[in-house]
Amino acid sequence: MTFADLKQKLLEVNCDSNVAAIEKAYQFAERAHWGQLRNSGDEFIQHPLAVAAILCEMEMDDVSIIAAFLHDVAEDTEKTLEDIRQNFGSEVADIVDGVTKLGKIAFRDKEEAQVENLRKMFLAMARDIRVIIIKLADRLHNMRTLQYQRENKRREIAKETMDIYAPLANRLGIYRIKSELEDLSFRYLEPETFAELARNVQSKKQERDRQIEEVIGFLTKRLFEVGIEADLSGRAKHLYSIYRKMQAQEKGLHEIFDLAAIRVIVNSVNDCYGALGIVHTLWKPIPGKFKDYIAMPKPNMYQSLHTILAGTRGEPFEIQIRTWEMHHTAVYGVAAHWKYKEGRGAEADFEQKLSWLRQLLEWQHDSRDAGEFMEALKVDLFDDTVFAFTPRGDVIELPADSCLIDFAYRVHSDVGHNCIGAKVNGRIVPLESTLQNGDIVEIITSKTPTGPSRDWVCKVKTSQAKNRIRQWFRKEKREENITRGKDGLEREADKMGLQPALKKENLLELVRLFNLNSLDDLYAALGDGAITFRRAMMRLKDDVVKEEEPFIFVPSRAAQSGDGSQRVRVKGMDNMLVRFSHCCNPLPGDEVVGYITRGRGVSVHKAACAEIAALKRRGEDDRLIEVDWVAKAEEEEEAVYPVNVDILAADRPSLVTDVMNSLMETKTHVLNLNAQAAKDGSAHIHLKIETRGIGHLTFLLGRIRRIKEVNSVSRV
Ligand code: MN
Repeated sequence: MTFADLKQKLLEVNCDSNVAAIEKAYQFAERAHWGQLRNSGDEFIQHPLAVAAILCEMEMDDVSIIAAFLHDVAEDTEKTLEDIRQNFGSEVADIVDGVTKLGKIAFRDKEEAQVENLRKMFLAMARDIRVIIIKLADRLHNMRTLQYQRENKRREIAKETMDIYAPLANRLGIYRIKSELEDLSFRYLEPETFAELARNVQSKKQERDRQIEEVIGFLTKRLFEVGIEADLSGRAKHLYSIYRKMQAQEKGLHEIFDLAAIRVIVNSVNDCYGALGIVHTLWKPIPGKFKDYIAMPKPNMYQSLHTILAGTRGEPFEIQIRTWEMHHTAVYGVAAHWKYKEGRGAEADFEQKLSWLRQLLEWQHDSRDAGEFMEALKVDLFDDTVFAFTPRGDVIELPADSCLIDFAYRVHSDVGHNCIGAKVNGRIVPLESTLQNGDIVEIITSKTPTGPSRDWVCKVKTSQAKNRIRQWFRKEKREENITRGKDGLEREADKMGLQPALKKENLLELVRLFNLNSLDDLYAALGDGAITFRRAMMRLKDDVVKEEEPFIFVPSRAAQSGDGSQRVRVKGMDNMLVRFSHCCNPLPGDEVVGYITRGRGVSVHKAACAEIAALKRRGEDDRLIEVDWVAKAEEEEEAVYPVNVDILAADRPSLVTDVMNSLMETKTHVLNLNAQAAKDGSAHIHLKIETRGIGHLTFLLGRIRRIKEVNSVSRV
């Protein structure tokens, strides 16, 4: 590869690239590395060129490509970071610094060196995400040329890649690099398994290709007929993912479940669900295998609809449906330029979790320049994860806000049960201290078994630690827990005015509902927190005593189409903060009542809401306030309300499609869809949709009820 090749690539991707600046970096690197050879015998400059080319394919900005050329200069040549700073500025120099290994410090051993180097990289990456993207591209090229390394070195590098770099690429959503890193590491870590699996997959290739071709043929034709523009392609899953699946299902190499996968890319979210409907009319979906990552994106932003279908000859295959925007994000993850800014689903907690992403999207409104875009990515990506190290250099990944007790339990349950103190970066700190990225943690355990402390359950963040602590108490403190559970349940029932419900037969029913064996088991579970008192009371109220009939929606004859022109006003007051309660999701037209909350305005419930009834029983109705629906002023935004709908039907082909079609025809936005077929031939479809009011909902439910084989439709 020559610089001319790279230049051509650059201009194909972005005609505004600053080629002169990039060429200057290339020449600087070529001179600095002059005379050095790679193990392959190539001129050294081939390596930075290859790394730059990978980044160019990912459409990274000019600064990243310049830094890619210089990434080994400070580490391996006479030139220093200072030289780079003078020639290319601080931004480039800081990135190169982040990618460069710590050189001058004398480490005690190899492990210490690895920990310190990773620590440095993670810290640099928290400041500028491009550090890690360049490091990943660097690692990818080194893995591609790993055959030139000595045997023991190969394994060492492959292991580090599998342990650290592939998971990192995954967390950042860069699937293209993640899959290649995994397959390359797999090849060197388990060469024999790799070869045999590759042979088996290859032997089935022809069969698989024929199947893919057939599916694409059918589907293309049907999508064209209904006017959904789509791009279809087929592929085999990468080897390592097949291998991992085989391990999870404990299958041998000869019985691989090598799933053909077809990807359908369409223009809009509505088309995704439309195409899904079509797919489900053509082939029978395998129950329980439909996943809606559009409504519920993965934490690394991945979105798609996944469904597994039974092929005509019985062999299952997978179809993934996504928009072009989702596709771009799926392949490039955080490295994706945000090319699209069309509205995203308003999944509130997801938005909050990735608030850094939202900032980025907001910012995207007024800039499309890659350089500025990357600037905005300089945020702490590890908002939801921390990486810490054991003194031996093992990486421990935990959710953000985890404390040292979480860390101890992650190392081993016995370390958790018996920990009495901890050193972080050499200093003694309290066990409940929160972990920071890059911490080196040494847990101090007691020589004699001590057991956990009860308040740890509230301090730890991971469910693993919580469960282990509870298990310990379950075993050690059963009698104590039974008393605690019994007293607590009575107290809770008193508070909720449900004391009379605590009859023996009701409690035994509750034991059955929670799949327990005896009343003592129930009390013990409550006492150690495995079941919360609140959850027990809710089950008692809803499933045992059955105080309230669930709300069944019956459409009236006078149903009208909703137009979203209504909102709620507190009687006699304007500008009062009003929000809709989530327990009953009132709609325009429902009879409603307001409840004055502490500091959060008035929450609006349906008059028939169970919470309101409970409130009245407790004699707290002095905080209820009259509210009513009023016509909304013109300029106010059209309001939408999320509603859950349950559909029961006799299962038949194309049932889901017909439901999807009636949603599309009524221009209803689908937030979530979940369909399950039962063994007795019935089907249960759960929908979460956005409605514009009771009129719209009534109209829609009426349409669904008229669909063949639908037995009941109800608002949940
Ligand atoms: Mn390198």
